[in-house]
Amino acid sequence: MTDANLMEKIVSLCKRRGFVYPGSEIYGGLAGIYDFGPRGFELLANLKKAWWDAVVYGRENWYPIDSGMFKNPRVWEASGHTTGFSDPLAECKKCNARIRVDKVLGAIGVTADEKMTEEEINALFDAHRAEIKCEKCSAHDFSRVRKFNLLVQSNLGDFTSEGNNPVYLPGEACQGIYLDYKNIVDSMQPKIPFGVAQIGKAFRNEISPRNFLFRCREFEQADTQLFIRPNENKEAYEALKEERMNWFISLGLNKENLRFKQHENLVFYAKDAWDIEYNYPWGFDELEGIHDRSDYDLTQHQKFSSVDLRYTDPETAEKYVPWILETSMGMGRLFLAVLADAYREDELGGEVRTYLALAPKVAPVKAMVSPLLKNKPELVAKAREVRALLRQVHPAIAWDDNGNIGKRYRRQDEIGTPFCITIDFDTIGHGDDAALTDTVTLRHRDSGAQERIAIASLPAYLAEKLR
Ligand code: ATP
Repeated sequence: MTDANLMEKIVSLCKRRGFVYPGSEIYGGLAGIYDFGPRGFELLANLKKAWWDAVVYGRENWYPIDSGMFKNPRVWEASGHTTGFSDPLAECKKCNARIRVDKVLGAIGVTADEKMTEEEINALFDAHRAEIKCEKCSAHDFSRVRKFNLLVQSNLGDFTSEGNNPVYLPGEACQGIYLDYKNIVDSMQPKIPFGVAQIGKAFRNEISPRNFLFRCREFEQADTQLFIRPNENKEAYEALKEERMNWFISLGLNKENLRFKQHENLVFYAKDAWDIEYNYPWGFDELEGIHDRSDYDLTQHQKFSSVDLRYTDPETAEKYVPWILETSMGMGRLFLAVLADAYREDELGGEVRTYLALAPKVAPVKAMVSPLLKNKPELVAKAREVRALLRQVHPAIAWDDNGNIGKRYRRQDEIGTPFCITIDFDTIGHGDDAALTDTVTLRHRDSGAQERIAIASLPAYLAEKLR
């Protein structure tokens, strides 16, 4: 299977099995916008839960928030987004395709610094024009480079009488944390170091959304901001990097598909910046950014709002603007990494099958219960009983009595259900072997192996696997 095939197969499976649909599909869609279907909703929720468990509940002194999406437009001035949040773009004069100049230069080993002016980046691009060809039509004929702002504008209220000032959808979710920092300090009295976490939507006017959930125009970011004393960044930053890498591995992602990459060009306020990259079907690319941001964000907001954002040490009364260590992960990028990592094809019982080798704790359905035949009331009643029993362990226990048992298993394989449980005549004491009464067939997804297990021991078995 080539990697391009793999991407196609994942996208197709996502639609066929209810994970991800193209947004507004019946109207021809809208580029860079996707909807999560019922299975995707569950997988996403499980990934979010695993994240919250790790970053808030598994740590001391961490606070979750959920901030409003719209913010006073001054926020985006203070953060630098209204002026500096742009991508350098050029257009192919032959086919009108647009290219991200920083990315195509990067691919030939030339670094375009994000601080460069339009003039500077044009000069750099001009020096390498001959080496760059259009991804679509292979021509070498591009327009001048323009810096294109990524913020998405909107309007709130009666904007005709209020001066027609635009508001912006969040270009990054983390601003909500900086804005709530003072309220958190005042209402929760946290002692530094403390952290704040949020999963929030972000919107970017990406010029060429692509690679499915990887580069969208609307997406979710799972962000953490750790507030620390000035200059106490080094050790905490290293610990954070290691902790985050281990978390990705704990979700079941293959270690070999994860790596760190340090940023070569740091923005002026940053002390250090690393990405955790995942080996997507097109190669290693950013999954999460881990940034050592010094006191930049709070200092900017202090300056623009004229509100004192210094922290007062409760013991020494010392006042300072905390420094911040940030992690920012795209939920969609994680979702895609998890699917790509879990996608498998093999041969089972002489047939090719597709399955998702998802870790039980992230799988959208934990187990499927099924009566061998759907027209035998005793089998159905027993199977219903077993399902109800397992639903006390976890609500995501599916029911399937459609078609032959092999087909039912295959459907569950494709959505990554780790266990299938079948109730047959032996279970209800109508088989040849009385010793099998009140036992069921438990079928394992990855190996296809089946074993006999007592109904009474199923709940503890499942609970253990989900831990
Ligand atoms: P890239 O270089 O890929 O554009 P970035 O460095 O601009 O990403 P950040 O601004 O650091 O990304 O955002 C933090 C995280 O948000 C990224 O690591 C990524 O997981 C996610 N993210 C950023 N842009 C997108 C997008 N267009 N679609 C989906 N996720 C995104």
